[in-house]
Amino acid sequence: MPASLRPGDDIQYLKGVGPHLSQRLRKLGIETIHDLFLFLPRDYEDRRNLRRLAHARDGEKATFFVESVDVSSFYYRGKRHPKIKVTDGSGTAALFCFNRNFLAGTLAPGTRFYLTGPPLVKRGGVSFSQFDYAPDGSGNLRILPVYSLTEGVSQKKLRSLSSAAIGICREMEREDIPRVIAEGYGFARRGDLLAEVHYPVDMESLRRIKETLSYEEFFKYQLVVALNRSRMAHTVKERRPCEDKLKKRFIQDLHFELTGAQARVLRDMEQDLSSPSPMNRLIQGDVGCGKTVVALIGCLRAIETGGQVGFMAPTEILARQHLRTISSYLRPMGLAVDYVSGGVRGADRTRVTERVKKGTTDILIGTHALFSDDIVFKNLSLVVIDEQHRFGVLQRGRLREKGDHPDCMVMSATPIPRTLSMTLYGDLDVSVIDEMPKGRAGVETVIEKQAGLEKVYSAVRAELQKERQAYFVYPVIEDSADSDLKNAVEAHVRLKEVFSGYRVGLMHGRLSDDEKEDVMGRFRDGHYHILVSTTVVEVGIDVPNATVMVIEQAERFGLSNIHQLRGRIGRGAHRSFCYLVPDRSTGRDSFNRLRILRDTDDGFKIAEWDLRLRGPGEVMGRKQSGIPSFLIDNMDINTKLIARAQKDARRYVNGEIGSEEERKRYLDGFTKSDAYKNAVVFYGG
Ligand code: ADP
Ligand code: MG
Repeated sequence: MPASLRPGDDIQYLKGVGPHLSQRLRKLGIETIHDLFLFLPRDYEDRRNLRRLAHARDGEKATFFVESVDVSSFYYRGKRHPKIKVTDGSGTAALFCFNRNFLAGTLAPGTRFYLTGPPLVKRGGVSFSQFDYAPDGSGNLRILPVYSLTEGVSQKKLRSLSSAAIGICREMEREDIPRVIAEGYGFARRGDLLAEVHYPVDMESLRRIKETLSYEEFFKYQLVVALNRSRMAHTVKERRPCEDKLKKRFIQDLHFELTGAQARVLRDMEQDLSSPSPMNRLIQGDVGCGKTVVALIGCLRAIETGGQVGFMAPTEILARQHLRTISSYLRPMGLAVDYVSGGVRGADRTRVTERVKKGTTDILIGTHALFSDDIVFKNLSLVVIDEQHRFGVLQRGRLREKGDHPDCMVMSATPIPRTLSMTLYGDLDVSVIDEMPKGRAGVETVIEKQAGLEKVYSAVRAELQKERQAYFVYPVIEDSADSDLKNAVEAHVRLKEVFSGYRVGLMHGRLSDDEKEDVMGRFRDGHYHILVSTTVVEVGIDVPNATVMVIEQAERFGLSNIHQLRGRIGRGAHRSFCYLVPDRSTGRDSFNRLRILRDTDDGFKIAEWDLRLRGPGEVMGRKQSGIPSFLIDNMDINTKLIARAQKDARRYVNGEIGSEEERKRYLDGFTKSDAYKNAVVFYGG
């Protein structure tokens, strides 16, 4: 054991932690003493607002200050357990100490202690069987941390360990924002702030400390963003003049007019494409609002000025769908459209890589395979990414390295609440297409109980009789690799019986890409009347003749997911229906949550709800959110904080705050830190 412990030492050296307990702590993600220091409480036990026993409410957890007056025992399952009678002057209570024989001694008559737990209140009698206790002493009137626990680690144990960790780490905790900024705001030392999050003086002070820590997190994040921005701004991209010949022809051939929103976003994009720094723009808009058409016009400019385009989709199905539509637009114009995916191998692959390398290919459409080492562009000028949130930072960076400062455009049908998009995509310019093309009949959403499933089937049958098509969607159930398959496979068997006389296709994640494409093709060309699927039917699948979607076990989906799923219907001129059928066991809250979908069609509003109900980890994908959850406690404060942190970070990077020397030293350390390396930004740089 090291003579004097340091924050980076393994947790097992901490007094009171053996190999056994250290294994358990590892389950909580705690490996070093410092990890324990950063393991912040999930809640607090406020001992300053004591409840009187006379006012104990059944099942409502509270803290009481009591004195033990009598110790006896009771029998349960042939065993004797202590029963302790306590009073606080206002009333009495009985503590049933299951398997805690030692309490007879610890809480002997005359002992005063804090009792915390949910009381059982029955006909005037108050009792406890689950409770915490803490002896009176050492100015105990305070707010205690409540940590997330794992099996075999008690609250009491964690409290005592965290106190020890605080003692070791507090002084040595490194400051992680520049001193000028911390001093400017009068922030306390970071070690003291963290210590007080564990043991706050009062709630108001805790709120302020969390705000400070949030500010620090946001500042670091915004610093990454500001550094990226500044790098981009200093990058000069050579632009050749463009006569927009291809664009004019493309627009002439379109059988519709651009919506006002499309025209506006097009102007944003064209402005970017004629400015000296590379474009870095996110185009948001619900499924079907016409993002792809706008993106294509950008592609045409890149091609006309002699560049190549990489066009990337998250799945093979979507990539092939893009291939089909884009080819139908661009091949008649004499442009070369190629395709690459993991499945394109051998001679086909060589042919494509040769064409891309020679510059024959004007636009290369594909999946992640666009990142492969064998794909070398002659002159990659523009990268279009469909559905950005599925790509990690590193991948984005790699794609960017394939060209000489390529412009980048990201299309997303995931309406990210403004608060989050500012944090996560602060280095992107954002345009929103908030208008649907005319002539879309829209989707009516209906929530139906399991008992009403027959009604839903009749409604589906009515649509099929009108020669329309239907989707049935089933959730992917995490933790059980096979059950999503089972869900959809069983439904497929059942629905073939229910809809005998119709052809029912099945699509799930276990099919090979070719098989998926084959099933999708048969649904698209009308061979299948019904498509049963897990969520692999990705956002953006375009079958305008499909007018009804049934989502079973709808309570398992995020609201935004359902919103995207239903975006696949209502794309044609026919009114469409989306039936949400929750499981029989669904609680009232989950049921009510679905009503939001019935009541609004606004993707941004739905995303805000998702964020509030499920947290950013769920909304953004757990790994990519990268935001500690306590930062999201209060969205109102955070919005202001983000804005302030953003402004400060930009000014700091621009040299408007602090000395040159300190900045250099700080940024040097910062760009080597994990905070920098793990940050989720659009351009990894
Ligand atoms: P998104 O990429 O936003 O999901 P798409 O660009 O794929 O949307 O467009 C969806 C469908 O709407 C396509 O069939 C497209 O041809 C059509 N579309 C796009 N813009 C318009 C418009 N302004 N008017 C009519 N139809 C349009
Ligand atoms: Mg699309």
